[in-house]
Amino acid sequence: MDVTPILENLNDAQREAVTAPARPTLVIAGAGSGKTRVLVHRAAWLIDVEGASPHSLLAVTFTNKAAAEMRTRIEGLLNVPVQHLWIGTFHGLAHRMLRRHWREAGLPQNFQIIDAEDQLRLIKRLFKNLEIDDSRWAPREIQWFINAQKDEGLRPQHLGDEGDPNRRQQIALYEAYEEVCQRGGLVDFAELLLRAHELLRDNAELLEQYRRRFRHLLVDEFQDTNAIQYDWLRLLAGSDGVPFAVGDDDQSIYRWRGARVEHIHQFQKDFPDTRVVKLEQNYRSTSTILNAANAVIANNLSRMGKNLWTEGAEGEAIKVYSAYNERDEADFVIGRLRDWIDQGNLRADAAILYRSNAQSRVLEEGLINARIPYRVYGGLRFFERMEIKDALAYLRLIAHRDDDSAFERVVNKPTRGIGARTLDLMRQYARANACPMWRAAGALASDDLRGRAANAVAAFMSLIERLDRETTGLELHDQVDHVVYQSGLVEFFRKEKGEKGETRIENLDELVSAARSFTPDPANEMSRLDEFLSHAALEAGEGQADAWEDCAQLMTMHSAKGLEFPLVFMCGMEDGLFPHQRSIADPNGLEEERRLCYVGITRAMQTLYITHAEQRRLHGMDSFSQPSRFIAEIPDQHVEEVRPRVQVARPMAARASRGSRSAGAAAMAPGNELGVRLGQRVRHKKFGDGVILNCEGQGAHARIEVNFESAGTKWLVLSYANLELM
Ligand code: ATP
Ligand code: MG
Repeated sequence: MDVTPILENLNDAQREAVTAPARPTLVIAGAGSGKTRVLVHRAAWLIDVEGASPHSLLAVTFTNKAAAEMRTRIEGLLNVPVQHLWIGTFHGLAHRMLRRHWREAGLPQNFQIIDAEDQLRLIKRLFKNLEIDDSRWAPREIQWFINAQKDEGLRPQHLGDEGDPNRRQQIALYEAYEEVCQRGGLVDFAELLLRAHELLRDNAELLEQYRRRFRHLLVDEFQDTNAIQYDWLRLLAGSDGVPFAVGDDDQSIYRWRGARVEHIHQFQKDFPDTRVVKLEQNYRSTSTILNAANAVIANNLSRMGKNLWTEGAEGEAIKVYSAYNERDEADFVIGRLRDWIDQGNLRADAAILYRSNAQSRVLEEGLINARIPYRVYGGLRFFERMEIKDALAYLRLIAHRDDDSAFERVVNKPTRGIGARTLDLMRQYARANACPMWRAAGALASDDLRGRAANAVAAFMSLIERLDRETTGLELHDQVDHVVYQSGLVEFFRKEKGEKGETRIENLDELVSAARSFTPDPANEMSRLDEFLSHAALEAGEGQADAWEDCAQLMTMHSAKGLEFPLVFMCGMEDGLFPHQRSIADPNGLEEERRLCYVGITRAMQTLYITHAEQRRLHGMDSFSQPSRFIAEIPDQHVEEVRPRVQVARPMAARASRGSRSAGAAAMAPGNELGVRLGQRVRHKKFGDGVILNCEGQGAHARIEVNFESAGTKWLVLSYANLELM
């Protein structure tokens, strides 16, 4: 058999991992060393050379995008389609199992997946029903609590209140939430994993069946598995399964979501026979970029430690741009991007990365003005947009009348005169009779409601019944098309002024196309519509309108994990934003931020720009910050500062970027070109602590504007103010 294509372009260490005999294997290696490549080749090797059935493989990756790519690459290596291969995210695979074994999992056959927004809405409703004071309890906090418990595999009955009344209340709410979900057949994201775990744990026969089937478990981004995901894998592996995991402890960036990098050690304990393979050659980046990344991550204390080198060229220096504000930053980024495109490069080869989703708006505005097509990953994705969720809610209700969150979403959309009071009555009735809103509505419309309200409710219910009748037996896309138009949604959005309404209608039309191009899983027994609805809930982000178009890529550093781009911009590199304010005081938090920075830098293949702004307006608030400490951690020889704009008359402020390392406490000598930095914290005898917002004038006339925490904003003459630097 000709095995060359599979082993071609692999170095010795990679080849060793790919061809390893069937025994637990852990590949631990730095960014860009070919871990994902090894995983793909391993799958092909097992099928083609070892003769493993594609049915015996289960491959887990981090995103749907990565899963799709993995499938294509394996097919490319094997030259045969592998449709039936179980490749997906943990959530996707868990969902697949639950659909097959809903009965054993204790779920209704038509269970619905709810996303984070639905979940929060449900918790808010629960608060109302239980008359919980939401000034003391934030629904978001409870949502976080519930998900964190589920990520650890814990049900309410596993939790003790430890004599703490707060905790007792949290547990009680968790329990109440579970009841509501169970009654409505609703499954949130964390529940998918937990259920799938319990399914195998509690059904010996099923477990045995899956263990026999999935002998080969391939896991990418292993460092970011949480407790329940890890346990699920371990359960599936049993004593005969062969787990093959690849990961990088330096890229563990989801601790805040329950990921535990410690699983790398745990793996070696749970599978004592584990072979550990290290890959040390980086094939992705120039040596400049790689050395910069290595230098930054070296500041972390808790590391397994590894070498990473490259034979690649030195490449260009990393360019650091210190912008005046976020608009200046966007202008700069778009200018460089424009040059890149004009040089004949693909837009899709350029990525703009940022720490927080909200940063994308200004960049997006700039891109729109410059007429550069772009695509945002994460953020508000297609299936999360309001109008799409509205249409999906109609479809959900048609498929399942007892879906309360869908009911509440559209019962009065478009407006049909069902007011808050009527809704409250329905909720009360539903609670008192432990029944879905749909039944409550029916009962109230025929008895308790009067006149207009009763008519409106009855009209809504007959609309749903009618849509159901009219779409039975139609093709999925005709079904979606019919519902989008006949529900009144299109008409409703047509009334919305200007471009917004138009975009919404375009999006609704796009939903019809999405339904048209939807390929169902042949092995699934659910209806097309149900399958499409699950797909919509799970695969948010895929299938955007312009997926085919060559466009610049915008995403958070978190979503960039595993990807690579010839040109990368890292924006908003400011202390407080990145590293994030929350994490600065906490050493573990700071190390996680630094790992995220390492992930960001190592996405770049040839060219890396780092930008920061002295002043930034974000979430409607202005802030003044220092350049990120991570910039200062990059050795000087790899950095080139670019300041194409004309120097403004604020010498120290402008120099703050790289000077901050040595001149952290600039002397505040009046007359000496001010010597203050915007954003610097100062203390005044009378006014207390504040932050410098502005400065003007020279010498004895120099004045600064300070925003004092308690005394508000004041202009002070610098030579008299007697300020203390903090
Ligand atoms: P990350 O940690 O970011 O997920 P990774 O370790 O998974 O990175 P890959 O994405 O698999 O790394 O590989 C990085 C790049 O190097 C890819 O473009 C890949 O095709 C290339 N590459 C890997 N190994 C080799 C090799 N032996 N020869 C040539 N190119 C290689
Ligand atoms: Mg990878």
